[in-house]
Amino acid sequence: TEEMLHRQDKLAAVGQLAAGVAHEIRNPLTSMKGYTEYLQLDETDETRLEYLEIILDEIHRVNEIVEEFLQLAKPQSLNLETKNIVKIIENVLSLTEFDARKKHVSLKLVGIHEEILVNCDENRIKQVFLNFIKNGMEAMPGGGAIKVMAERKEENVQISIIDTGKGMPPEQLRKLGEPFFTTKKSGNGLGLMISFKIIENHLGKVFVESEVNKGTVFKIVLPIKPVKYAWPRKS
Ligand code: ADP
Ligand code: MG
Repeated sequence: TEEMLHRQDKLAAVGQLAAGVAHEIRNPLTSMKGYTEYLQLDETDETRLEYLEIILDEIHRVNEIVEEFLQLAKPQSLNLETKNIVKIIENVLSLTEFDARKKHVSLKLVGIHEEILVNCDENRIKQVFLNFIKNGMEAMPGGGAIKVMAERKEENVQISIIDTGKGMPPEQLRKLGEPFFTTKKSGNGLGLMISFKIIENHLGKVFVESEVNKGTVFKIVLPIKPVKYAWPRKS
């Protein structure tokens, strides 16, 4: 029946995801095992420290993957509050400012600077902006500019993250949001999947436009919290 098929599809998706997680976790485990074995051999203090550092890095990687998957596992745990989204963006920009300066990336907020109230989970939304800004910076290894633009669009707020980085060809755009899709040496390919999920849970949408060697624009559209009018309502 149709229902059965649907269930099989879901199981297939779970299987794929599980295989992906296992693969991503096995890599750092293999390297930790290798370096631990080196540590058992007689080595100088200097190399031991180097190996320990690698092992710590790999533990960090496994931990990140597990943390991100835990978030996917409980999407219903949004802690919704009425927040000024512009303030949240400013906050994220100040968090990333130092990193941006180091990477010769200019970061600025354009468009609306006044209050726009959104019903959201502030920490999750911050994480989304951080992911997009981080990706933008990583797309500009030689430096560049990132503009974050907030605009009102009818009942929504649209936040655009605009970079002048390497951009993406269409076949890459189609893969965005697939778990473990990454073009980076030390990427995990989970950032966008998590971000899309968080925005979806906020009843929002994400759009992308990109041109190779020109740059990329990600647009996040979120519903603005409806204003409660005093009765009688003037019209
Ligand atoms: P990761 O950053 O770990 O690779 P993401 O899910 O954040 O994983 O991104 C997946 C891939 O999408 C990246 O590896 C990159 O190829 C592409 N991508 C995302 N954002 C941008 C961007 N702003 N410019 C160019 N490519 C991007
Ligand atoms: Mg990323």
